[in-house]
Amino acid sequence: MASTILPANPSKPRAGRFGVYGGRYVPETLMAALVELEHAYEAAKADAAFQAELTSLLTDYAGRPTPLYFANRLSEQLGGAKIYLKREDLLHTGAHKINNALGQGLLARRMGKRRIIAETGAGQHGVATATVCALLGLDCVIYMGDVDMERQELNVLRMRLLGAEVRGVSSGSRTLKDAISEAMRDWVTNVRTTYYLLGSALGAHPYPTMVRDFQRVIGMELKRQILEKEGRLPSAIIACVGGGSNSIGAFYEFLNDRDVRLIGVEAGGRGTALGEHAARFQGGAPGVLQGTYSYVLQDEDGQIAQTHSVSAGLDYASIGPEHAALHDSGRAEYVSCDDAAALDAVVKLARTEGILPALESAHAVAEAMRIAPSMSPREILVVNLSGRGDKDMGILARELKL
Ligand SMILES: *Cc1c(COP(=O)(O)O)cnc(C)c1O
Repeated sequence: MASTILPANPSKPRAGRFGVYGGRYVPETLMAALVELEHAYEAAKADAAFQAELTSLLTDYAGRPTPLYFANRLSEQLGGAKIYLKREDLLHTGAHKINNALGQGLLARRMGKRRIIAETGAGQHGVATATVCALLGLDCVIYMGDVDMERQELNVLRMRLLGAEVRGVSSGSRTLKDAISEAMRDWVTNVRTTYYLLGSALGAHPYPTMVRDFQRVIGMELKRQILEKEGRLPSAIIACVGGGSNSIGAFYEFLNDRDVRLIGVEAGGRGTALGEHAARFQGGAPGVLQGTYSYVLQDEDGQIAQTHSVSAGLDYASIGPEHAALHDSGRAEYVSCDDAAALDAVVKLARTEGILPALESAHAVAEAMRIAPSMSPREILVVNLSGRGDKDMGILARELKL
């Protein structure tokens, strides 16, 4: 159930708050663990050796910097703004999630925690976490809803091959929300030995800030790259928003560049009725879910709504608290894109550029396709291509009748 708890004094700026959003709404047993994590993270962040090891792994292991690619044929066919793609899809394990998994994996090892737990929806975060655990020699348990295990079988097999134990979750809707609850239960029980490696800019403080910091590299590279290629900043940056990590990573470096529009794309699913989509800013209201105060899809009694999206990675009832603040202040804009438009965008990008985007990323591509034609050829759009589409081949084969 979501509840509408406000901080004691919402006008007083506090660590872990983004305006009135964010905070730390967890059982008493986890408070000490979150404070320990916050301090350990602050110390690691300030430690040059930690940063150097992370940078080295991001470079030589994950494949950073990722290219900023000018999508010439796509831009020409749409006949408006120039479209660039930030190629997070080219990273090891196929998406931006490895940036955060490497950062938190190094942090866990530094904290002396040898057992890692994580939750996963589409399986991408589970694969990234299992990968990093193999790399660093850590034990790994991944919680995943039974429904998702069936939908994303290939990723389950990948995690097992990497040495992780995948625990199916059969409670509730048997999807991501339930996997997160199960992972939190595990953490409460094993908190002394266990590190909870959260996969998006969600959850209780310090996770939303820490995950954003580990994904900031996307926007930092992109700013340097677009200045090199075009000598100016883009008109807009477009990214899909599940929990909000690839988008906040792409946006953060541009928050003070007021002329750059920041556009987050949520999953419009198959309709506007509650339960048919995951567009938190269209149909949600402020509330607490899984440790943080943000926009939540809920019914009038505060029961968490069911969600739907063709892309499992966008299919979650809440959104990172920093996005809630950016939404309310108007600094970022949030739109939604439905399943059909996302599927069209997959086909279009595949056939104009030879790139198969993840279904999540295709939501951002669809928004670029929608707005580019009405823009001038002097304008630039950057799409954060958060991941590659291989993992979605089963769904694509069915939906597109390949
Ligand atoms: C998980 C995932 C997302 C959604 O998560 P965010 O935290 O919102 O970035 C988007 N794209 C891909 C490819 C993913 O794997």
